[in-house]
Amino acid sequence: MTVAYQCALCGSDDAQPESLPVDWEEYLRDERDLSPPGIQWQVPLCGEHAAEYDHLRKSYLDRGMMDDETAQKVEGDADDLLDRLDLDRLVDEQ
Ligand SMILES: [Zn+2]
Repeated sequence: MTVAYQCALCGSDDAQPESLPVDWEEYLRDERDLSPPGIQWQVPLCGEHAAEYDHLRKSYLDRGMMDDETAQKVEGDADDLLDRLDLDRLVDEQ
């Protein structure tokens, strides 16, 4: 039996866990009281939201090569996405 995860954005139950960049995890800890510490959190996402998340994560990690305005927009988009995650659906990496 495969473990089914629910998408942290829409609740769809065909989600697969995606890794969470360290900066994003810190944001969730600081802004949204993600706990407990010491866990390698992963974010389950459905196909549609995984594509959005992957795209944003890649942009976020590359933002050092962008001009300030674009980098700020990427950071704002990342914060928006993180604010929409249902933290009860996050899973810890096993
Ligand atoms: Zn979804």
